[in-house]
Amino acid sequence: MGATLDALFRLQKIENQLRSVRGQIESKNRRVTAQLRRINTLEQQLEENRQTIARAQADANNLELQRKTHEAHITKLREALNQAKSNKEYAAILTQLNTDKADALKLEDRVLAGLAKVDELKKKADEIQAQLEKESARLAELKKDVADQEAQLADELKSLEAQREQAAEAVGPENLHAFERACERHEGEAMSAVERVHPRRAEYICTGCHMSVPLERINALQTRDEVQLCPNCLRILCLDAPSGATV
Ligand SMILES: [Zn+2]
Repeated sequence: MGATLDALFRLQKIENQLRSVRGQIESKNRRVTAQLRRINTLEQQLEENRQTIARAQADANNLELQRKTHEAHITKLREALNQAKSNKEYAAILTQLNTDKADALKLEDRVLAGLAKVDELKKKADEIQAQLEKESARLAELKKDVADQEAQLADELKSLEAQREQAAEAVGPENLHAFERACERHEGEAMSAVERVHPRRAEYICTGCHMSVPLERINALQTRDEVQLCPNCLRILCLDAPSGATV
């Protein structure tokens, strides 16, 4: 293998390490983001629950007010009953009194049901609140984890970035451009080995995209120290990957 491909392999190796370190940090950051979303959902639920409680409480208060008005009315009817001046008047007041009593009982049931609903909603709110506290503690743990890991990997990142810069210089600007473009298209896998697919005929494919590679590129790879790209996926072609480099 020529010096150019050698330099590109070194660059690829460092690129892989860099991406792996960055990937570790990103994956933890993603967990923080997911946890933030979870907390946000719980906060929304809690807020909706608060509003429902307020409405249910207002309904119950309103019913209680109606019930009290009925009670006052019933008291007045009782007094009127005692002062009835005729049997006919007495009977009329008694009928009204019984109707009002029945209404008041119905209202009382509705007040109790309303208050039970409020209690139930408050219990649900307590559950959400407890869950929220648990998830918030988890978030703090995750954030600390990210900070710890970033501190731990900061030196490694710095050293890898310096190494990458050196390796990039060694491949030259034109090859570096091809390398970075392939990295971008293929998630950091800029290089691809060719493989002979026919035992008798000289037919080769790029193992990155599995499309055939023209023979002149294979010949050039075998004879010249210059970069050959896969015509299909634009990865940098190599005859085989040297040990130690993950390509
Ligand atoms: Zn290819």
